[in-house]
Amino acid sequence: MKISSKEEHEAALKRVSDLLDLELRNGSPEAEELDLLSLAISEYEDIHFPMGPLVCGRCYEEVDQLFDSGCNENPEDLKGQPIGQYHCPDCGAMVLAGAPHPQVCERCRDRKHPGFDER
Ligand SMILES: [Zn+2]
Ligand SMILES: [Zn+2]
Repeated sequence: MKISSKEEHEAALKRVSDLLDLELRNGSPEAEELDLLSLAISEYEDIHFPMGPLVCGRCYEEVDQLFDSGCNENPEDLKGQPIGQYHCPDCGAMVLAGAPHPQVCERCRDRKHPGFDER
């Protein structure tokens, strides 16, 4: 079994979660299918997501793509100052003095994430 597209990958993930809902007996055809699917999924993900899932630095959701935050805050300039972690005054993400502002998802970059104003 080989997964070669995003659609097949999604279908495989769905099938795995369906199979996991069943009580599978060892050696049953479904258990074997689950093994094969898991293997195919990890092979696909090794190729297409070699770094593991990307996580937005602000809402912590897994996303396909990250963007520069567009904030005016430059926590890396605060290197050596005893500030540690603080909330970015622009977007509210937790940032670390001395480290670059984390990248964020498209919705956070565009300030369209639900809950953006709830801080
Ligand atoms: Zn986000
Ligand atoms: Zn920010």
